[in-house]
Amino acid sequence: MEKVIILGTGCAGLTAAIYAARANLNPLVLEGAEPGGQLSTTTLVENFPGFKEGVMGPELIMNMKAQAERFGARFEYTECTGLKKGEGHVSIEVDGKWIDTGALIIASGASAKWLGIDKERELRGHGLTSCATCDGAFYRNVPVCVVGGGDSAAEEATFLTRFASKVYLIHRRGELRASKVMAQRVIENPKVEPVWNSAITEYIPDADGEMRAVKLKNLVSGEESELEVKCVFVAIGHTPNTAPFKGVLDLDENGYLLQKPGSTATNVPGVFAAGDVSDHRYRQAITASGQGCAAALDAERYLADLGIH
Ligand code: NAP
Repeated sequence: MEKVIILGTGCAGLTAAIYAARANLNPLVLEGAEPGGQLSTTTLVENFPGFKEGVMGPELIMNMKAQAERFGARFEYTECTGLKKGEGHVSIEVDGKWIDTGALIIASGASAKWLGIDKERELRGHGLTSCATCDGAFYRNVPVCVVGGGDSAAEEATFLTRFASKVYLIHRRGELRASKVMAQRVIENPKVEPVWNSAITEYIPDADGEMRAVKLKNLVSGEESELEVKCVFVAIGHTPNTAPFKGVLDLDENGYLLQKPGSTATNVPGVFAAGDVSDHRYRQAITASGQGCAAALDAERYLADLGIH
């Protein structure tokens, strides 16, 4: 039986791994479907304390992982697909087998949302993506569009102006939800053209199956139009990765894990939650790290009460 298993290797999971490893709990960390979490697909992070000039997201993640490994954390490239309660332990399903653990820290994060329209699956990687940092450089000197009105959409659109000839920012309302600074930065960029009150109703591929254009509907006038773009960057928020825990752990109405007030504990003894999987309010690297730390301390104390050190 494992003492502590940690699910996820974003800021929350890796910080939990550092703390659990330094507490001699020899944690097993499962990388999950998106190793490194959201920071691994970001460029410069300017708001993580301690880096005067900022730090690249992937570098921050690699350093956190190396730090956890130095203290004995073990990493496996696999993911958890189920959870069961046991007597004095919980069991998780991994690759069709069940593993028992004294404590479980869930830091499986949240994944990008998609529009849910036709051809969304087949066009991914062919002019449809949710990650400007990953794919922006493929679209030099061609028009692209970003969908969404939050900080992510504003940030992605601004970033894409480095490459694209034009960035259309398609939003379903007439104003951005993004923070004032980011909204102003994107609107004032001469390469960005906002397309207000509009939704994409269709992706239009070319003969080779690559994105050629999108069909737009103006949600006020009902008018339809076609917009030539080589890539659509969808930035409309995230869904928490909690599917394996449904029916066992308490979730809120949006599927985020619920924690007991003032703690990272879930409704199942020995199971703790940290980071974006349970936080739709702050969603910052530093708050995820803080929660990972708290979850490891909560797990350590829970195990100590059971006589497990
Ligand atoms: P968000 O704030 O939830 O915004 C999602 C945007 O997508 C909204 O404008 C929403 O429209 C739109 N939207 C949602 N579903 C849609 C659909 N089906 N079709 C079309 N549009 C849709 O998500 P986010 O921008 O990813 O930000 C998440 C959190 O991370 C926020 O707290 C944000 O501040 C933070 N963040 C911070 C930074 C930074 O500080 N550097 C960068 C990125 C994100 P409505 O406005 O009409 O609801």
